[in-house]
Amino acid sequence: MAASKKPTVIVAGLGDTGALIATRLTRTCNVVGISTRPALVSGQELGTRLIDLPRWRRTYLIPYRRFRKLDSVDVVHGRITNVDFDTSKVSVELASGSTREITYDFFVIATGVSNGFWRHDRLEDLATIDTELSAINAELNGAGTIAVVGGGATGVSVADNLARAGRSKVHLFHSGEEPLPGYHPSVRRWMARQLTTDGVTVHPDHRAVVPSDFRGDQLTHDAVEWSTGQEAFNADVTLWALGGVTPHSAFLPASVLDDEGFVVVDKNLRMPEHPNVFAVGDIAASDPLRSSARNWGFRIVVTNVKELVRNRPTKLKPYKAAEYRWGSILGMQDDGLTVVQPNGKRFRIPRKLAEPLLFSVFVQRILYGGLRKR
Ligand SMILES: Cc1cc2nc3c(=O)[nH]c(=O)nc-3n(C[C@H](O)[C@H](O)[C@H](O)COP(=O)(O)OP(=O)(O)OC[C@H]3O[C@@H](n4cnc5c(N)ncnc54)[C@H](O)[C@@H]3O)c2cc1C
Repeated sequence: MAASKKPTVIVAGLGDTGALIATRLTRTCNVVGISTRPALVSGQELGTRLIDLPRWRRTYLIPYRRFRKLDSVDVVHGRITNVDFDTSKVSVELASGSTREITYDFFVIATGVSNGFWRHDRLEDLATIDTELSAINAELNGAGTIAVVGGGATGVSVADNLARAGRSKVHLFHSGEEPLPGYHPSVRRWMARQLTTDGVTVHPDHRAVVPSDFRGDQLTHDAVEWSTGQEAFNADVTLWALGGVTPHSAFLPASVLDDEGFVVVDKNLRMPEHPNVFAVGDIAASDPLRSSARNWGFRIVVTNVKELVRNRPTKLKPYKAAEYRWGSILGMQDDGLTVVQPNGKRFRIPRKLAEPLLFSVFVQRILYGGLRKR
């Protein structure tokens, strides 16, 4: 098919999910990828990002120019501000300051969520990304005592990695009896033990008093008060990992969103009222845990866009979510990478295998389709 005859697919957001989708649709479609940053800044392994930034960057911060499979993608550095479903057109505020309108045949929304200071939807360049990452790490490096508030995967990963690094005393506060809601009960029990073994002082049943306008997007230095009645806690630095995420859906009409602002999708990850529009990743209300990013939702979207291009709507594949969250929580450690499974079991890939096989072969060559050195 001549390039000009191919349908156009716009992929909104080139994060963990959108980048994988864009790299896989170039044979079937003209792909336009729009992202607020010029690089993939992964939402994975946030604990190791704080203690070993150079190593984290090697796998999880990758300028788009390094992706060989994005060479034929029109990568637009900008922020989508509006979508008109009647004319199939998106408006983009470009990083250069001007605006651009782009029409599509298919539209994939993978704009993710804001989550404290870890993830946001501000327009930024590579230098700003670097400055922000380094500033947070520097502030934590100088702290004698660190409080981490929040017992989800981010809080647990951060607390455990900081404690293992041995530079500070680390306290983890969470509101339930065990950390990691959404994970299998055996994973939750294992992690409660692991945190203590790794030197974290864990404080269950602590619910922090959080000002209503505070989104946990900065480190703080004041004592933390507890609505559960315990004495206030004073650390040199408090890092917030509250789990309350804000969907990046302001460019969409309320009619396609659920009450919390996530995109409503059907079993094929399509918008019920707009069959040529998909949503996937953290932005999509695909299942109660909104877990289509790690449950390979990108494959479903890629397959289904291709089937629609071939005019075979009866062949669309359904998305299936795992009942519990799974994946790596603590990231790569000296003894390897531990992956927890939806059934509560876990396995560890030794470090000497994980680095060459998982990161170099699986992630960089198979998932990303090959990366340039620079
Ligand atoms: C293969 C895979 C494996 C995973 N494994 C794990 C694991 O082991 N452990 C774990 O904890 N998690 C894992 N995750 C999940 C991960 O933590 C998050 O769920 C994932 O980062 C969410 O990806 P996303 O694409 O939805 O959002 P993001 O990666 O946040 O990407 C969204 C992008 O959209 C951009 N954007 C936002 N708004 C706009 C706009 N208006 N216009 C243009 N661009 C915009 C943002 O800047 C960002 O670049 C995995 C995910 C994948 C894909």
